[in-house]
Amino acid sequence: MPIREKSILLRDLRNYLTFLKDYGFSEIPSDSDITLELQSTTKELPYSSIDTDNTSHMKTNKNISTKPNISIESVRSELGDCSRCNLHKGRKTIVFGSGNPHADLVFVGEGPGADEDEQGSPFVGRAGRKLTEIIEKGMNLSRKEDTYICNIVKCRPPKNRDPKPDEIAACNPFLIKQLQAIRPKAIVALGKPAASTLLGRTVPIMKERGNWYEYEGIPLMLTLHPAYLLRAYTIENRRNVMNDMNKVLTKLKK
Ligand code: URA
Repeated sequence: MPIREKSILLRDLRNYLTFLKDYGFSEIPSDSDITLELQSTTKELPYSSIDTDNTSHMKTNKNISTKPNISIESVRSELGDCSRCNLHKGRKTIVFGSGNPHADLVFVGEGPGADEDEQGSPFVGRAGRKLTEIIEKGMNLSRKEDTYICNIVKCRPPKNRDPKPDEIAACNPFLIKQLQAIRPKAIVALGKPAASTLLGRTVPIMKERGNWYEYEGIPLMLTLHPAYLLRAYTIENRRNVMNDMNKVLTKLKK
């Protein structure tokens, strides 16, 4: 291997191991499959000490025939300049969603904050940077290419309060249609409001995170919201989130 490539690979590996250490992992995998992965490509680095899956699944083509006849653009235009609930009164921008509308993986959050309202994209503030780190460093995926990210409500609740049931209900048809249009292989609900909305019941997130559920036949993983993770930045919470994401990667590979 040329020296330059090797040093890039070693730098990436060091960054990745530092990231894992930060997330509470203290061991590295040592079986021969992993050695082969490391030798073949930097893109397919294993992502944790407890799960040795790589990301080659992201390169497999999806079965297009499972896609319904609805496009993300048509969902966006149906939403229009929405005033279906009171949240429209205080918003600057509708934050519809971002990423790849053909992605295998969709993250669903709660609702836009100030940064998202300003910029018109989900998860671009502090919690967003944490989510991006989890996706890109923890899962070794590209946020832009490999995922689509949206929220249960598309307008910022005042002072970042939790969205109210009528606001969630007004927005829900658009979330449903977004998920129907994308038809991902897996969905991740970030935090209690997203989990509760997708499952249609109040979810005790600390108890139920890390488990698989189904949303309209699509595997649904519940995990902690990155804003919560930042507030309660314990090794246990970080490790739990990474374990949840490792389960997602395993599911995507199937
Ligand atoms: N928190 C969310 O739930 N969604 C965002 O878009 C940003 C922060």
